[in-house]
Amino acid sequence: ASLYGLDRWGDPYFSVNGRGHVMVQPRGDRGGSLDLVDLVQELQGRDLSLPLLIRFDDILEDRLERLHAAFERAIAQYGYAGRYQGVFPVKCNQQRHVVEQLVESGRRWHFGLEAGSKAELLIALSLVDDPEALLICNGYKDRRYIETAILARRLGRQPVVVIEQADEVARIIAASQELGGAPLIGVRAKLSTRSTGRWGSSVGERAKFGLAVPDLLATVQALEQAGLLGELRLLHFHIGSQINDIAVLKDALQEAGQIYVELTKLGAPMGLLDVGGGLGVDYDGSRTATAASKNYSLQNYANDVVATVRECCAAHGIAVPTLVSESGRAIASHFSVLVFDVLGTARPPGAVPAEQPQEPLMVRNLRETLATINAAPAAGGHASCDTLQEAWNDALKFKDDALAAFRLGYLSLPERAQAEQLTWACAEAIAARLAGLPEGTSIPEDLLALQAALASTYYANLSVFRSAPDTWAIDQLFPVLPIQRLDERPMGLGSFADLTCDSDGKIARFIGTGQEKSLLELHAPRSGEPYWIGLFLAGAYQEVMGNLHNLFGSTNAVHIRLGTGGNYVVDHVVRGDTNAEVLEVMEHDPKQLLERLRLASEEAIGRGHLAISDARRLMAHLRASLDQTTYLAS
Ligand code: PLP
Repeated sequence: ASLYGLDRWGDPYFSVNGRGHVMVQPRGDRGGSLDLVDLVQELQGRDLSLPLLIRFDDILEDRLERLHAAFERAIAQYGYAGRYQGVFPVKCNQQRHVVEQLVESGRRWHFGLEAGSKAELLIALSLVDDPEALLICNGYKDRRYIETAILARRLGRQPVVVIEQADEVARIIAASQELGGAPLIGVRAKLSTRSTGRWGSSVGERAKFGLAVPDLLATVQALEQAGLLGELRLLHFHIGSQINDIAVLKDALQEAGQIYVELTKLGAPMGLLDVGGGLGVDYDGSRTATAASKNYSLQNYANDVVATVRECCAAHGIAVPTLVSESGRAIASHFSVLVFDVLGTARPPGAVPAEQPQEPLMVRNLRETLATINAAPAAGGHASCDTLQEAWNDALKFKDDALAAFRLGYLSLPERAQAEQLTWACAEAIAARLAGLPEGTSIPEDLLALQAALASTYYANLSVFRSAPDTWAIDQLFPVLPIQRLDERPMGLGSFADLTCDSDGKIARFIGTGQEKSLLELHAPRSGEPYWIGLFLAGAYQEVMGNLHNLFGSTNAVHIRLGTGGNYVVDHVVRGDTNAEVLEVMEHDPKQLLERLRLASEEAIGRGHLAISDARRLMAHLRASLDQTTYLAS
């Protein structure tokens, strides 16, 4: 487990059991666990093939509980005379079952939703029927969006229209006048606080959203003139996703706290301070201010929000606001695990080719080098490192000579193959020697790199572009590890290549201790036994950002709930896209495609190129594949 950092990032939801399998504790430390390997096996028995997205709804609920508990503790600790009332940003995961689950689980805290578009607003308005829950309306807004929010208030909902662009205020005023009623209004401030990390550009003068201070003042004036200042209730800021340094958050909170106080002084009733999203996830468990981590806990976060806002308000004798956050990643990352299978592996050919009569000089030289490596002292420490290093340099030189000779026509293709095979055999022999050296022997860098050169490619039954697009688009790191054989030392290093015909379709960046690594310790798959890999903490943003590259569609997904007595319930099954479905997305008509192929096979039968029985077989395959998943049958 420590090899994959599971003991650092997995707590409290993932661990390893005595069988070397990943265990899932969906309710964290409140008891109950599931063996992930057994679960996958049983789901496969229900005809749910891999790749499979397993959503643990208990984890989702536990995340909500932890978030609220952290704010409740902070509120009690600092004697904060207000409360916390969060919303979930729908953009983070719009899947119906996920949003429904969050709304249901969040009912006891009047937990609401944040929408960033009209479609998301539709979801929010229809699902959140609690009159006390907030519906935060962010993003660009046209007149229809604003009118919808105004009218929805009459349904007993609480949509807060957050002004993000200076020109929105005129539309809000016009719509309010025409409809004879206003929405609850919020303003998003463009903070000057400098953020760090991948989403740092969400703040500062060039940020896409938010009102700079002059625009903020102009907005307040315009609302006042229109008699709408009484509806200005909320100040919002968002300094980017995955805040990795708590110091940045503190600065932003201080700045926003002062703006809040000033807005109150200008006569706005206010009452809500929305600190946006950004609560980070510790993907590598290092607890550092790096892209894959964060240097604070959930409790630190809640404490800082509560304490800073309290301090700002107390200094000016102003009532503290209800605190709102729009945490997405921190709520939704942990609950889904993608499990995919390995279809095969490839590694450089290391077998020693049989000796031929009259081998060219370069090939003979390589054979001698291999013999030198094999004869090197087994545990000779530095001395044997020097011999190995020298031998490797020789091997590379002889290989280059062989390639040059091939280019000039002095070496045949089989002879070149022999030279390449012998070079890899040298590399393997050196790697085996290095593995036998006493621990602590310092190994030259070139020889370490050689181990990487011998790494295997594991062919993965998934599309990175569909299931983990951030690994490709923004170099996001997710914990990836085999879910079985964790009690067995892995045999070597490897990385994953996906099913797409795209060289970017790979997973070749992994969490390490402190530093990321390009190769992962993996086992040699055993024949007839599946080797399943889990990609963890990917419940936020991946599904909606995933695309249909090479027409690989959505994977099968299931919602699992822990039952009583150690069993589980499969709450929902969401079947992945079939080939027909992805074809239709691209405007192809599957029936028409089949008909064209039927006509082509008739023609081939007519020309005597295809037997009728083969034509029937071909058509049966084509018809069946339309109804099947876009992934490979393992
Ligand atoms: N609120 C706004 C306005 C956002 O743009 C985002 C996403 O970046 C979020 C909330 C959610 O952020 P996170 O998932 O980091 O909590």
